[in-house]
Formats: sequence, C-alpha cells, structure tokens
Amino acid sequence: MKTILTLNNLTKRFGPLTAVDNLSFKIEKGNVYGILGPNGSGKSTTLGMVLNVVNKTSGDFFWFDGNESTHNALKKVGAIIERPNFYPYMTAKQNLNLVCKIKNVKNAKIEEKLALVGLLDRKNSKFRTFSLGMKQRLAIASALLNDPEILILDEPTAGVDIELRYMLWDFLKKINEKGKTVLLTTHYIEEAEQLCDRIAIIDNGKIIIDDTTENLTEKNGESQLVIECDNLNKDINLDDINFNIDEDKIIIKTDSPNRSLPLIMEKLNNSKVVISNIEIKKNTLEQVFLKLTKNNATN
Ligand code: ADP
Ligand code: MG
Repeated sequence: MKTILTLNNLTKRFGPLTAVDNLSFKIEKGNVYGILGPNGSGKSTTLGMVLNVVNKTSGDFFWFDGNESTHNALKKVGAIIERPNFYPYMTAKQNLNLVCKIKNVKNAKIEEKLALVGLLDRKNSKFRTFSLGMKQRLAIASALLNDPEILILDEPTAGVDIELRYMLWDFLKKINEKGKTVLLTTHYIEEAEQLCDRIAIIDNGKIIIDDTTENLTEKNGESQLVIECDNLNKDINLDDINFNIDEDKIIIKTDSPNRSLPLIMEKLNNSKVVISNIEIKKNTLEQVFLKLTKNNATN
C-alpha cells in the first residue's frame, strides 16, 4: 500500500496554547481519511502545517515516500482550505484559466474537470451567478486541475444545508471510487461515518483514536444481535452465551457481532430453533465519539 502522508508527533503551539499535540498518523492511497473533532480541536492547524502555510513547532511530516521536498510534493496535492475564492465577474472557465496559469497546467484540463463536477454546461456562466453548491464544485474542479494524488478539504460541508451536504457526499464518494485519495476534516460525526474509510478523532489537539470506521463502530462497546425466531422455547440453552428473550426475539449483547454470529446460529440450530430474521444493531459513531471524548475528559 502506497503511503501518501505521514505525520510523526507533529506539534503546533501558539504561545501557551498547544493547538496540535504530538499528532501521528498515516494516510494510505485510495482511502477517504477523516479528521473528526469539535471546533478548536486543531483540524485546520494540522492541515495548515502539512500544506506549509503554518510553521510547525516540533515533530515531523512527510509526503509520499519522503524523498522530495515538501515544496515539490505539494505540486501533487489539491487542497481547499478556505471558502472558494474566485473572481465573481469572470466565468467558470475564465477563472479556471487563471488557475491553470498559476499552477502551470494545460488549459485542456479545464473542460475535463468541469465535466467531472457537473459544471461543463455552465462553463460560460459568471461565477457570481453560481449557487453555493456550484461554487464548491468549482473549487473542487480547480483543486483537481493538476490531477493531484490527494484531494484535501477542510470542513467541506460546514454551514451548508442538508441537501447540498448529501450532494457533496455523493460527489466525493464518486471521486474516491475513481481512485482519488481524500483527506477531509469535519465536526459532523455523520459525515465522517458516511464518507470515511478511516477516522482519527481529535480533541484538544490530541488523537483519541485512529481506526477504520468499521472497527470504530464495531469494536467500541456493545452492539446487539437481535435474532427473531419462529418457535422460541424459553428453555433454550446457549451454553456460556448471555442472552435475553423479548417475545419471539433473542437479544445478545456482544462486542463483535460478526464474529459471534456463526457460533450462535450453530447453537440455535442444535436446539432446533428456526431463525426467521437477524438484525445487527451496531454502535453508531456518535455513541462511540461521546464515549471516547467523555473518557478522555476524565483522564
Ligand atoms: P479547528 O480547525 O479544529 O476548529 P484550529 O486548528 O483552527 O481548530 O484551532 C485550534 C486551536 O488553535 C484553537 O484554540 C484556536 O483558537 C487556536 N489557533 C488557531 N490559529 C491560531 C493563531 N494563528 N494564533 C493563535 N491561536 C490560534
Ligand atoms: Mg477549522
């Protein structure tokens, strides 16, 4: 697996305040990686450091295999860390023409990227006539002009309405399916859960946990297996497995529902219980987040 970005104990202090505190993680190619944390937890400062717009205090980071300067590596990175900033009286195409000049990219890329974000038919419309969603998509097209290895977005859906948020999620999923690595920050738990393959939860500049979204929701705390049965007998025996019975349902609390299920099914089968439906009620990331940030606060 190719590594895109590596952080080793990266730290930023503003006077007495430690905004980013010994952050270490890796971003692998092809993933959507999320940094999830409340306002002021250090997300933008972290992006600022790896994009060379904020000076680090200590620790280290390197792009790709670490064999080239950050300046050169950043030519292969597409980032949107501020609100889209284009000339209002110029068209989409004219704005991207300017970006091509600055980035030293061929103009031929413009139409390809406008098509990718669904704005090709609006290429000759002035930027000021665009809706917020269109402005954001134009910013993404702009960041993708030089075919970067990774697309970085700082709180891409902060303050936008639900409809636009869902549209951007869909759109980012599609970009990722085409092979683009994505790093985004967010304070929306649902956004991280929906979009990211891997999430680092940060609080007060520190990583509380860094794991796959799947592991985060499965590992941290109990999930429930709800097994609906046709001929449930109150005397069934599942040996050492604890369970409750609620009408025709067997309810089992487990840390790892996917792993426990085959054994439970076998035992039910041996007891001649006919299973009519199985539901796994996993922890939501929200429950995990609240639990972890609460633990962290009391540590
Ligand atoms: P987030 O993006 O997660 O909301 P930030 O990285 O913007 O958080 O900020 C982290 C902390 O660092 C906050 O307490 C913020 O007030 C502080 N901070 C950010 N930039 C500066 C700065 N230039 N000078 C002083 N403090 C700063
Ligand atoms: Mg921020």
